[in-house]
Amino acid sequence: MRRPISGTFYFCLFTFSLNNMEDNYRHKGLRQKLIASLRRKGITDEKILLVMEAVPRHFFLDSTFAHLAYKDQPVGIGKGQTISQPYTVAFQTQLLEVEKRQRVLEIGTGSGYQAAILGMLGARVFTVERQEELYLKTKKILETKRFGNIRCYFRDGTKGLKEFAPYDRIIATAGASKVPEALLKQLIIGGKMVIPVGKEVQEMKCITKVSETEYVEEHRGSFKFVPFLEGKEKK
Ligand code: SAH
Repeated sequence: MRRPISGTFYFCLFTFSLNNMEDNYRHKGLRQKLIASLRRKGITDEKILLVMEAVPRHFFLDSTFAHLAYKDQPVGIGKGQTISQPYTVAFQTQLLEVEKRQRVLEIGTGSGYQAAILGMLGARVFTVERQEELYLKTKKILETKRFGNIRCYFRDGTKGLKEFAPYDRIIATAGASKVPEALLKQLIIGGKMVIPVGKEVQEMKCITKVSETEYVEEHRGSFKFVPFLEGKEKK
């Protein structure tokens, strides 16, 4: 008599198919559902939704966590860090109002997923990471898979990335206790920065530089990010 195939078997089969670096119809179906949920949660920018539907989020996760790639939640990426929740990625990207060929500085490369979304939107992305291990791993992914014009640097983001400044847009994907002065300096006049600021919980700040010394600041809700830390951490 043939034994019935257990739920565990299907689960293993499912996670196995999610583990490789292929992007199959199952992944695409899961992404479509995720995009529908982002729409329901209020994301309206069609370009961002299209790009998020196209970029395989499971490429940016370790195989053990790949089955969580299309849930709207943050996921561990090692070194105590997380890939941001898809809703947060969409929300921050929407606030950034990025246009093609703009120079965008990202603080906190992490898994590289946010950088890939910006790259696919046509931005020229400069992304910095303070954890050497994450920097090396992610640089490889972003170099082997093509997600547009993205350059990775092993740097302390509190200092920005002076040599390529000014930037049209700056996005921080870690929660800062205050807005680093260097980032304000490296923003072009008319440019925009999206940065979560606060200790336990962070307020999403959207800052527009209106002159060399003046900024307009808007607050766009509360979020919880991993901390924006000073200094670099070697392997
Ligand atoms: N954008 C990432 C989010 C990763 S979590 C993604 O899509 O996966 C935030 C990242 O910010 C972590 O990897 C953390 O190491 C990094 N980080 C924190 N403080 C930093 C700093 N001062 N400079 C550069 N990176 C920093």
